[in-house]
Amino acid sequence: MRAIQYIHGDKAPHWVGDGFYVKTLINHLEDNPDFNYNHTDPFLLFDYGEPTRFSPNPDYKLQPHGIGQHPHKGFETVTLAYDGEISHADSTGGRGDILEGDVQWMTAGRGILHEEFHSEAFGQRGGIFSMVQLWVNLPSKHKLTGPKYQSIKRADMPIIELINDSDAQKQTIIGQVAIIAGDWHGITGAATTFTPINMWDVALHAAGTTSIQVPNTHNTLLLIQEGQLLVNGTAVSAGDLIQFSAPIHVNTESETPSHSTTDSIELTYSRDAQGIVKLLLLSGEPIGEPVAGYGPFVMNTQEELRQAFRDYQIGNFGK
Ligand code: MN
Repeated sequence: MRAIQYIHGDKAPHWVGDGFYVKTLINHLEDNPDFNYNHTDPFLLFDYGEPTRFSPNPDYKLQPHGIGQHPHKGFETVTLAYDGEISHADSTGGRGDILEGDVQWMTAGRGILHEEFHSEAFGQRGGIFSMVQLWVNLPSKHKLTGPKYQSIKRADMPIIELINDSDAQKQTIIGQVAIIAGDWHGITGAATTFTPINMWDVALHAAGTTSIQVPNTHNTLLLIQEGQLLVNGTAVSAGDLIQFSAPIHVNTESETPSHSTTDSIELTYSRDAQGIVKLLLLSGEPIGEPVAGYGPFVMNTQEELRQAFRDYQIGNFGK
């Protein structure tokens, strides 16, 4: 079993623009000795948007809720819409809507300018809005790759049924996993990634215990998006982010690299729980490179970072 190292979640929420009310649960700029980029590599930043109710916005056309044009460079942003819808538009001419259950995987690479707002349909009707956004680092050899999108519809994701292990004979289905990215026992996720990453959208809807397997060479994190459950016997609830124990180190230079295998994580949905449990499992092989980050730019060195700002200031950005 992969041990729980620490449970994070006691962060004050803040607004991103006027559309996204989030808790930043992972932040590569923080130097907490127990939880910094070394523990989350290749994940740089994670904004958890707790379910927030928005009134209908009759001024949508003049003042949509969200955040206007801003740059990104040197990494990828991954946006999951749990409730509500997001419209985006960018400097390459790309635009579209992220609908409920969909994922947008945007590679900023050498640079992009974009805007992120509630969709017009959601803005007009209002309701519960809940999303998460993750920043995934790019290795130095791919930092300047061309910007691109993967618009991943829920229907594009392989769905795995989770069986109650505590009564395996009955084969009772207690949940599902949607494989956004990565590998589930040989089943490949919908997104393509630059480094080995698993991103699994897990839902439990009935009482029981089930196990998921994660590579022992990956940094591994689990967000409780909604509900409450036991993870490896420990009670957790919505807004918690579990940091699992450090991965074993793989020395790729060595002639006999350490053998990669998997660790299990045990999920128990109690009979007393109310409603559905939603989880987001994140695991990734550490890139292991230095990070120089400021605001929306994440490079490898301070000189690259200064160059990114110069390029942005003279308008020579994302071209
Ligand atoms: Mn953005």
